[in-house]
Amino acid sequence: MERELRILIVEDVPADAELMERELRKAGIVFSFRCVQAEGAFREALCDFSPDIILSDYNLPAFDGMRALRIVQELGLKIPFIIVTGSINEETAASCIKAGADDYLLKERLTRIGVAVRSALDKKRVYEEKKHAEEALRLSEERYALACCASNDGLWDWDLRTNEIYFSPRWKSMLGYAENEIGKDEDEWFRRVHSEDVEYLKSDIALHFEGLASHLANEHRIAHKDGTYRWVLSRGIAVRDDTGKIYRMVGSQSDITERKRAEEQLLHNAFYDALTGLPNRALFMDRLERSAARAKRDSYFKFAVLLLDLDRFKLLNDSLGHLAGDQLLIGVAQRLSEYLGPGDTMAHLGGDDFAILKDDIRGMGETLRFTNFIQKKLEAPFHLSGEEVVTAASIGIAFSTETNRNTEEILRNAEIAMYRAKALGKGRYEIFDVDMHTHAVGLQKLEADLRRALERRELRVYYQPVVSLCSGKITGFECLVRWQHPERGLIAPSEFISVAEETGLIVPLGEFILKTACEESRNWKLPGGTALFSLAVNFSAVQFQFKGLVPSIKKTLKETARSPETLNIEITESIAMSNHHSTLKTLKDLHELGVHILIDDFGTGYSSLVSLKRFPISALKIDCSFVAGLPDDSENSAITTTIIAMAQSLRLQVIAEGVESRDQLMFLRSLQCDEVQGFLFGRPVPAGEIPEVLARENSLSEMLNAE
Ligand code: C2E
Ligand code: MG
Ligand code: MG
Repeated sequence: MERELRILIVEDVPADAELMERELRKAGIVFSFRCVQAEGAFREALCDFSPDIILSDYNLPAFDGMRALRIVQELGLKIPFIIVTGSINEETAASCIKAGADDYLLKERLTRIGVAVRSALDKKRVYEEKKHAEEALRLSEERYALACCASNDGLWDWDLRTNEIYFSPRWKSMLGYAENEIGKDEDEWFRRVHSEDVEYLKSDIALHFEGLASHLANEHRIAHKDGTYRWVLSRGIAVRDDTGKIYRMVGSQSDITERKRAEEQLLHNAFYDALTGLPNRALFMDRLERSAARAKRDSYFKFAVLLLDLDRFKLLNDSLGHLAGDQLLIGVAQRLSEYLGPGDTMAHLGGDDFAILKDDIRGMGETLRFTNFIQKKLEAPFHLSGEEVVTAASIGIAFSTETNRNTEEILRNAEIAMYRAKALGKGRYEIFDVDMHTHAVGLQKLEADLRRALERRELRVYYQPVVSLCSGKITGFECLVRWQHPERGLIAPSEFISVAEETGLIVPLGEFILKTACEESRNWKLPGGTALFSLAVNFSAVQFQFKGLVPSIKKTLKETARSPETLNIEITESIAMSNHHSTLKTLKDLHELGVHILIDDFGTGYSSLVSLKRFPISALKIDCSFVAGLPDDSENSAITTTIIAMAQSLRLQVIAEGVESRDQLMFLRSLQCDEVQGFLFGRPVPAGEIPEVLARENSLSEMLNAE
């Protein structure tokens, strides 16, 4: 339903006003109206009646239509205004329209009044809609301009017909230029784009032009006036004419340098080790993958993988602290990086493990020379927070072969070779071969078997008597472990101790041996009735790294009621010489406990007796290898003589191992060696055979005294 119109009629003749009213109603217009004839009433009505349309007589006694129109205009009111007059000439009519009236009507032809009112109202509505649209456009443009300003984007507008580009001041300032320093040529843009990126940008624009991309969005580097490159994102959209032809393209440019930098950092973090700055395992494997793929294509292309493990790193880390350990890793990374070829990759795989990929090698010789070289370079001491630290690396090398192209496998082969190098004496390198692989697989099986052996109690302790050269009596026994394997029979410790050490199984194994020996020997009575014989138990370096060693020994001694003075702990020279303050502390704790410390296999290491004196040692055991040639082998005789003489001057006891003959025995006795051990007096036997050994004791003394 049509809304009720408010019509203001300016008319002094009531009959005319009535006529208008009637014609309006006839035309179906629903309205209310007010009729005025003077200026004062007119103004009042504008205020309190607020008319939708004004119908005004042209000539009034005290007022007139033109005046009324002007008042409306002066007040800024947009009310449709129609002149209704008795007679009007064309000139007057034209001047009315010119003055702003919407229409004019002759009183004789008032039947038109409905049409005139409706069209005047329509005109106003259209005018208002247009105004509204214009306002909306203005607001949106203003918003866009503000948004561009706020977002810091530069704008460009490319006229493809003239090939000129308008660059906004922000676009220019983003690159460090003033308004007048960049022209309109398209080259102003493209020549600044990084040579590696410009083709991508152009092809992205082409894709959009061809309709294959809904818009342009391209990230590229663009030169700044200061000579650096900025990363920017250019977005744009093409404008087509009625025929679909592109004639213009508009877009923006945003600076994304910071974002790019952050992305690059993230990428860096994902592929580089934070500590050393070297590539990490992921990146190393990626490079290795590439080399392997290349080797597949090109049979002349060869590469090698070197796996480095720092010797005794853990000890150093524990003694000097993690900070020093980290510094050493950084130092190693820096030192070795210097010697890498352009195609080589050195990575920090974690812990003290480094890997080097040598690409495009000509042969083994070249790689081995390089390996020797870096091993030499690593020998020079590192200065870590005031301490001078010497390190060495065990290196495993795996070469690319025709058949071996699986990268994980190549790395594992290098690892096997590295372990081999470590086992063979550290600070050296080994090249992977198939035998090594077989051996490694064997070791893995051995480890699993050994774990089970511990659970199934397949390990046995054998005892070998130690005899005093002075009294000819048994003073104690050395405890030697054996593995009673269900299929392979009795296995000697040389076959499994190193595996136990590598895997850490040596700790529970050692506890088991000590406990078993203390328990089994509890009721042995030596012929003289004394129970005060000693038990010598072998300990390896790994056990000394185990923090619970001393408490565990204490506990076992207590549980089996064995006095600490009757326990001899045999360690090798290398443990004593490891220079590790925690080892020294453990040795001191053991000494305080009353336990005796013996240096086993003496003479095979590099320790000097004098340096050994720093440790609380009770005795030395001369290694079998020196005893073997006595007394005829002059060198062995000289060594043995010297060791015994020096030990005596340092008030250390000496025990000779591996005594098999009477000649050896006599020679050792002449040097006043304190005790002996060997097949001559008895092989290592299980606990069950000890009574027989003890029963033979008298014959031992007789043998000694016979001379
Ligand atoms: P070791 O401590 O120097 O032990 C002496 C080795 O010489 C023993 O070998 C023993 O059987 C052997 N032997 C004894 N008398 C003679 C002889 O007259 N002639 C010759 N040729 N050899 C003799 P075994 O039992 O095979 O032990 C080898 C090494 O294994 C030991 O050397 C020791 O270092 C280690 N080991 C043995 N048991 C244990 C253990 O319980 N724990 C640890 N950590 N190591 C052990
Ligand atoms: Mg021993
Ligand atoms: Mg020995």
